[in-house]
Amino acid sequence: MLVEVAVAAAVRGRFTYRVPSALAPGVSLGQRVAVPFGKSRRATGYVVGFPASAPDGIELRDVVEVLDPFPPFTPELVELLRWAEEYYLVPPGELLRAALPPGLNARRGEAGPARRGVEYAAPAEAAAGAAADPKALARAPAQRAVLEYLLARGRIPVEELRAAFPKGRPAVAALARRGLVRLETETPVARGALLPASAAAPVLTPAQAAALVELDAAAGTFQPFLLHGVTGSGKTEVYLQAIARARGAGKGALVLVPEIALTPQLAGRFRARFGDDVALMHSGLSDAERHAEWLRLRRGDARICVGVRSAIFAPVQDLAIIVVDEEHDPSFKQEDGPPYHARDLAVVRAKREDAVLVLGSATPSLETLENARAGRYRKLELPARVDDRPLPEVELVDLGRLRRGGVAKLPGLLAPQLSEAIARTLEASQQVILFLNRRGYETLVVCEVCGAEAQCTECAVSLTHHARRGILLCHYCGRTERMDARCPACGGVRYGVGVGTEQVEAAVRELFPAARVARLDRDVVTSADDTAAVLARFARRELDVLVGTQMVTKGHDFPGVTLVGVVLADTALALPDFRAAERTFQLLTQVAGRAGRGAEGGRVVVQTFNPRTPAIALAARHDYAAFAAGELDRRRTVGYPPFTRMMAARVEGSEDGARRSAEALAHAARPALGGEVAMLGPAPAAIERIRGRHRWHLLFRADGPKALFRVHAALARVAVRPPGGAAIRFDMDPYSMM
Ligand code: ADP
Ligand code: ZN
Repeated sequence: MLVEVAVAAAVRGRFTYRVPSALAPGVSLGQRVAVPFGKSRRATGYVVGFPASAPDGIELRDVVEVLDPFPPFTPELVELLRWAEEYYLVPPGELLRAALPPGLNARRGEAGPARRGVEYAAPAEAAAGAAADPKALARAPAQRAVLEYLLARGRIPVEELRAAFPKGRPAVAALARRGLVRLETETPVARGALLPASAAAPVLTPAQAAALVELDAAAGTFQPFLLHGVTGSGKTEVYLQAIARARGAGKGALVLVPEIALTPQLAGRFRARFGDDVALMHSGLSDAERHAEWLRLRRGDARICVGVRSAIFAPVQDLAIIVVDEEHDPSFKQEDGPPYHARDLAVVRAKREDAVLVLGSATPSLETLENARAGRYRKLELPARVDDRPLPEVELVDLGRLRRGGVAKLPGLLAPQLSEAIARTLEASQQVILFLNRRGYETLVVCEVCGAEAQCTECAVSLTHHARRGILLCHYCGRTERMDARCPACGGVRYGVGVGTEQVEAAVRELFPAARVARLDRDVVTSADDTAAVLARFARRELDVLVGTQMVTKGHDFPGVTLVGVVLADTALALPDFRAAERTFQLLTQVAGRAGRGAEGGRVVVQTFNPRTPAIALAARHDYAAFAAGELDRRRTVGYPPFTRMMAARVEGSEDGARRSAEALAHAARPALGGEVAMLGPAPAAIERIRGRHRWHLLFRADGPKALFRVHAALARVAVRPPGGAAIRFDMDPYSMM
């Protein structure tokens, strides 16, 4: 018996081995095996095929051991991985390894105890009266916060409440004793039994119902849908009910979400509706927990997977539906390690497994929109928020005009309009989110005398001043140096420019000393737990103002937030990236969607130097259609995706090696371009150096992937042994242009 094995090493290709007859009964597709490889006696590999004969002239070696009692990959997943490794041009072993939970080799970690039922909390009749009376609960702010949250959200699973108020259990119990909150337990529906759209599910709005009818009609076939619905339009409820139908038919479901740590509510809603039938896969879990969840799926003990991008490889059985929520989110594209796009793989997986695919977003990516327009995807629309609450009003503040009008220095870059709005919101005891996509205090430190910028010695970027820590920090390699007020070159005085979140936070504290302020960015929180804790304090209304990077744009449904301020909308606009405008529009729409989700309505103030740029002006008017139409026209004119396909070749090495390798690649590519492929470069990357390694890239553009694969084939020969020892990576459908 012969097997074809993908070895978990950085080599492309598969290798044939002989299976000793003693091991043969245990070997099936997707099995992990130990094999001799090169000089090493033992490497891990995966069985990806059963060839009838061996390639000529090769001395076959034997499989040493079969590593698992059952194969970790189902045959469908082996097929998906094979497809992915070919399309994304990555060594098979690398992708296989990335697809498995890191805890696979850990022997501990059995499935957790079964949950007994799903508990719900609901505001009781007297709740509204108590909340309206300022004297009631005056001495119990935690109870008041929980009650207000419940009044805004209605009947919700306790699991969701726990995500919002991790230490809120006593408050909930006290409220229940006072008769202000009802607690109810619903027993889970027996596995495999017909799941009625559970009692907890609300009656769908006509738009939701229409969407569900279409999803239902497509059941059992490969049919991709774009579910385009504004923030709060009830997309998640459509997913939940569509999945309930799939479960009713005994099938499984996969839900991909951008980042679970930022949306504990969403995971809570799935758990609440489906109980233990849901396995969660995200980076906030320990290796053992992730392994346990993975095993539950693999064994069929859990049939619904909710997870981040790597969950596209989760072993869900009898997959009937794949949902990609916020499908436009850049986190679905993996940039480190083997590059792949989980949303695009979702299309491939759904097709192979005859599953319905739902790509949901308030701001669909232009790729997906174009697929819908061309009739490849069916478009479903939820045009209004569920409760018919209006989308918040967005006001643009023209920073350029302020500056020309003589307003020189804005503390924390907060214009008078925005600080006044903050003041009024705080007076009304409501909450504020301030968003700025730049960390640190000042993004650039310059010498007044000689003009020298503080730069990283290892990377071609300027250092960011982090005032509280008293350091200059490189955001690319993490190198730090002490912040010195004097220029190391000439001794002149240095000053900082460019506002970051730390400075915004400081300015808010200074302007509003009574406000309770916190910051949410990667300097403050280092783990999913930290993130959840900050978000929970905000949800409990222990904080009045939350300042942060894009981490604040996703996250909770905070009913208390009535003001969202965008400190500088332009940060992403200037990047050398053809998706810069699209990304800006998406971020603004997302963050604006945080305002006015409670009864009070909401307001958004966006500060910008480019108030007339379509990405900003149209986001302010909530006009996705106009933005998308204009942007698609522009992409068509200049020949960028979705109208073309791209491939990047990224080169890293010594100054000389990187340049020579890039030139060698270009030389090899030229004869293969054949008039169909445009080559951009070779050129130094936008960030020319990271961690002391020089970076070059080449971009290839063509009408379709075939021509790009042909170019890749020509480049692959150079990539095996590039001049000067540089490293070369290929990236199909690249997202990062830096
Ligand atoms: P989206 O995913 O589009 O942001 P959600 O599904 O989260 O929207 O819905 C927004 C809010 O409206 C949630 O609090 C949800 O529980 C509620 N909701 C959704 N659909 C309905 C419905 N048909 N009736 C009542 N409430 C609903
Ligand atoms: Zn650096």
